Amino acid sequence: MNLFNLRRPAPKAVVEPRQMPQQPSTGNLMPKHNRATPVFVRGQGAWLWDDQGRACLDFTQGGGVNSLGHSPDALAAALANQAQALIQPGSAFHSPVLLTLASRLCQATASDQAYLLNTGAEACEGAIKLARKWGQRHRNGAYHIITASRGCHGRSLGTLSASDPTACSRCEPGVPGFSRVPFNDLAALHAAVDSRTVAIMLEPVQSEAGVIPATREYLQGVETLCRELGILLILDEVQTGLGRCGALLAEETYGVRADIVTLGKGLGGGVPLAALLARGAACCAEAGELQGSHHGNALMCAAGLTVLDTVLAPGFFDEVQDKGRHLREGLGRLAGRFGQGPIRGQALLWALPLKENLAPALVAAALQEGLLLNAPQPDVVRFTPALTVSRSNIDEMLQRLTRAFARLHARQQSRREMPA
Ligand code: PLP
Repeated sequence: MNLFNLRRPAPKAVVEPRQMPQQPSTGNLMPKHNRATPVFVRGQGAWLWDDQGRACLDFTQGGGVNSLGHSPDALAAALANQAQALIQPGSAFHSPVLLTLASRLCQATASDQAYLLNTGAEACEGAIKLARKWGQRHRNGAYHIITASRGCHGRSLGTLSASDPTACSRCEPGVPGFSRVPFNDLAALHAAVDSRTVAIMLEPVQSEAGVIPATREYLQGVETLCRELGILLILDEVQTGLGRCGALLAEETYGVRADIVTLGKGLGGGVPLAALLARGAACCAEAGELQGSHHGNALMCAAGLTVLDTVLAPGFFDEVQDKGRHLREGLGRLAGRFGQGPIRGQALLWALPLKENLAPALVAAALQEGLLLNAPQPDVVRFTPALTVSRSNIDEMLQRLTRAFARLHARQQSRREMPA
């Protein structure tokens, strides 16, 4: 494959770039995670180029945030045009893109109200606040939220308290009012509900836990339970929404309808944008309760509108499903060949479980092959390519992954042969 042809000419700078140090270093960054070493300077579609001119095939896309791939033309143009017109009128005012995005999101998801924020954690915090407000109004002040073991809803204090430290990070002491029960266990969930319970909050597919899908019976059972017991169902679709699972919302693929839905990641196509959607009686927020300086700024809304228009184009989700099948078949073959798996996931969200805790080593070997993957768990490698990924990108990824496995095996072999 001639990567050179793929490369778009460097954009002409509108303003002189600020003076950069000769060798940018990570020395001033607070520790986040063990960062891979490359410094990337350009991206296009499925590809990233580092400061040494090396091309990498990106099958993480920032954990799925770059839903349309790197720097897609439509998104770059929308951002440039909006930046010229209006970036942020101030959070007390509206912009046409904010109003359009909110109404298009509601229309497309059959929701009644939308609120726009910056990150998935903020959207999930908003969902928790909204549920607690509903509890004050409709359930005698109930405020307790039941979540699932191994779930992840963000890294703010509130959302970490809703999450499982094995999937997100730990922060003690947390915020009270949350309890966790095993995922895909309807009886455990039912047993946990009491008069304090206001809502059940779940991911349709637990991505950080290692891409663990809810079963159809479970999610449908949870919805029925919520209706029967008069509590709210919150679906965290920060990872699964916006087409990642082959439909605008994963709930559609399960035949379920939540009261509150959170969106993030893919909604902005790489810029920070998230949404809180509410339906029916869950639309109980009052003025001033959900507020933030940057919430719904026009620039990010322009990005969201572009992403939404793109994914809602006729045939887009069919394509995602089709390419998802291609990825599933290829990964399944590869897993069988190397004695790993079985793979699990949906559409363009897949995990390759490994028999040993070798996922970080495999990710490192893949990087040496110019392939970007990530390991949400020590024994799980995850694939979240752009929704616009091509079949040939998938084939290329499988070849690079095969070579990465060969590298890993060679390294293990040489370790075994090394004298103690
Ligand atoms: N919800 C889920 C399901 C997530 O996976 C994440 C992040 O990984 C979040 C919420 C938080 O999103 P953000 O990182 O944008 O705050």
